[in-house]
Amino acid sequence: AEKPWSFMVRVKATGGRVPAPLWSAVDDLAERHGNGTIRVTTRQGLQLHGVRKPDLKPVIADIVANLGSTLATCGDVVRNVVAPAWPYAHPAYAAARDAAAAISAEFAPRTGAYLEIWQDGQAVHEAGGEDEPIYGATYLPRKFKIAVTVPGDNSVDLYTNDVGVVPVFADDGTLVAYNLAAGGGLGMTHGKTTTFPRLADHLGLVAPERLLDAVRAIVVVQRDYGDRTDRKHARLKYLIADRGLGWFRSEVEREAGFALQPWRELPAWDDPAKFGWHAQGEGGWFLGLYVASGRIKDEGERRLKSALRAIADRGYDLVATPGQQVLVVDVPAGERETIDALLQEHGVEPPLSVPALRTRALACPALPTCGLALAESERALPAILAAIEAELAAAGLPGETIAIRMTGCPNGCTRPYMAEIGIVGQSADRYQLYLGGSPASTRLAKPWREKVRSWEIAPLLAPLFVAFRNDRRVGESFGDWAARDVLAEVVL
Ligand code: SF4
Repeated sequence: AEKPWSFMVRVKATGGRVPAPLWSAVDDLAERHGNGTIRVTTRQGLQLHGVRKPDLKPVIADIVANLGSTLATCGDVVRNVVAPAWPYAHPAYAAARDAAAAISAEFAPRTGAYLEIWQDGQAVHEAGGEDEPIYGATYLPRKFKIAVTVPGDNSVDLYTNDVGVVPVFADDGTLVAYNLAAGGGLGMTHGKTTTFPRLADHLGLVAPERLLDAVRAIVVVQRDYGDRTDRKHARLKYLIADRGLGWFRSEVEREAGFALQPWRELPAWDDPAKFGWHAQGEGGWFLGLYVASGRIKDEGERRLKSALRAIADRGYDLVATPGQQVLVVDVPAGERETIDALLQEHGVEPPLSVPALRTRALACPALPTCGLALAESERALPAILAAIEAELAAAGLPGETIAIRMTGCPNGCTRPYMAEIGIVGQSADRYQLYLGGSPASTRLAKPWREKVRSWEIAPLLAPLFVAFRNDRRVGESFGDWAARDVLAEVVL
């Protein structure tokens, strides 16, 4: 007899937006076919875990029937396109959302096989074959990640993407161009020095009407020159690292048929988490909620999943952020109290009462649901955070905000190599520690310690917290301090 396989199902959500009816449908599916939880991913999608193989077809059919999709949420294609989750009516945010939607549509696979397999559609060969103008018969060498954001807002972790897109505006607010960055990516393999995390380079600038042509040219150059002999060396970052940015830019320009202009300097980046109520413009409000490690579940008195279901059933769309938050959006001022009351009825604490360290912490699912996990992550993080909070308090730094990100393997799904403290699984209860990322997620952290057990992490950090309290410059973050002080002496 066949093994009782279970699967993870990813639901696409460009820019993280999940329409209310789709949220309610996914919530039902989590109960009926999943493990009773919904997970918000760091690429703004949703995951259902524990779906049994015989249930895959009805689950995916239900998602599609509710105008969702699972197509291109994995595989060697352009994945879920990320955009700032904040639903501001401001023209810059609107431009970023529009660009993300246009890019997402441009790179959606055209194959009819998806509907054939999951929706009893017409067989592809009967329908006259498939026409994939970009992916062709071979698709891309590896997954491909694109993020769009607005100047100053790095909530999308722009430099960790294969392509980063930033609209550029004139002083009067007119959209004049898009900046393009290329070649970012974080996954690596322990002990394999040819693999490494890398930040995207500033590639150039294009006129708004040429954005899709330019991004398509980047994808095509990676399709044609990316390494198809070694999957661990197949991402765009290795092509650019090996051949150089100059070579890559000329190939992109040749493919696009026009030259890129120089990257336009931008204001400094920030990575704002937004909890509680915020005015979004045009009379609307949004509410930022805390979701530990992105796991939406009912647990004891705190019934977050049921609360979000009740909110979706009232017609409010929900938005997943790259920081594993959920937003309730487009709420009229007069309805805010109703939403607050719903959350309170379900035992969900006011978001502003959550300790700062927790609101900045990310963890991937790892064990038991991710087949690539080498160590615990989501299940281990709460105890590690509690121990770090105690050490911070002992060092006279209660309430300090430090971005901590943990993964169960070096693939780095929660972007630990950008964190102020990164915790990366090496083997059962052994972790590599990284320090020195910046709060705005613009600098790679560096490895600091190897093979540390989970209970050893906080005690190892304790002396650093004391030194940080004594030595920090005015307003300096732990990550910036570590980069200029601790890491100057580290050789691993
Ligand atoms: Fe799985 Fe590794 Fe990604 Fe965690 S970082 S979800 S363990 S692949």
